[in-house]
Amino acid sequence: MIRIENITKRFKKLKALDNISASFEKGQVISLIGPNGSGKTTLIKSILGMVKPDSGKIFFKEEYINGGFIYRKDIGYMPQIGRYPDNMKIGQLFNMLKNIRNEPPETIDNELIKEYDLCSMYEKPMRTLSGGTRQKVSAAIAFLFNPSVLILDEPTAGLDPLSSEVLKEKILQEKNKGKLILITSHILSDLDELTTHVMYLQEGKMQFLKNIETLREDTGEIKLAKAIARVMKGEDPAGNFISEVLTKKTK
Ligand code: ADP
Ligand code: MG
Repeated sequence: MIRIENITKRFKKLKALDNISASFEKGQVISLIGPNGSGKTTLIKSILGMVKPDSGKIFFKEEYINGGFIYRKDIGYMPQIGRYPDNMKIGQLFNMLKNIRNEPPETIDNELIKEYDLCSMYEKPMRTLSGGTRQKVSAAIAFLFNPSVLILDEPTAGLDPLSSEVLKEKILQEKNKGKLILITSHILSDLDELTTHVMYLQEGKMQFLKNIETLREDTGEIKLAKAIARVMKGEDPAGNFISEVLTKKTK
């Protein structure tokens, strides 16, 4: 569904993405994991066309994205930091998006608007919202037009525990409908029951992209947090695999 071929992105001297290749299919939940500054957001923005890679190609549903934008219709995106016009009210924002898209009402997914009771805040200007409420608005927008691909950049950051559970439940539901979901989070326990594949980035390089079951077998850990901790520390319960994982460049 999404194929990335040899993407490199430099910010002056810094290589934010270094020759990344990967492909993601329908029904997969790819957890993008890596330390701060490892290139997760840059990779996401490259897929969305918000960052232009210096080299490499990205394909969406087998079509080469060459500065095009129509494909984005199929992607729901929740940014790490949602930015909205300060004086626009929540209700106006949703109405504006619905008017622009002009989709039949029965295809619109208002579930998160209801769950988060955003209707009761429709008169509030965006500039007055708390970080958590802003996140709820961003989440509701990502799912609004029932897209076949969801790209969620730290979706649970700043949400209270209950709201975070609501969102995780929603993501799980969409996963079960066979959508492709790309997600980043530093709260690895949030990813445990969602993830089908882990893509691990470090300093712009992809260290590995593997099935969660394989990662569990390789590390001898069931919990994603523990498995990743082993990878990050370079620990190796079996005595042989981590160095292999970390040195293996996925071509
Ligand atoms: P992550 O999301 O994994 O924390 P990012 O993709 O945001 O990492 O950033 C990767 C690296 O690229 C960081 O060192 C960051 O400072 C740098 N970077 C990201 N965006 C820009 C930009 N617009 N200009 C300059 N440097 C940037
Ligand atoms: Mg980021």
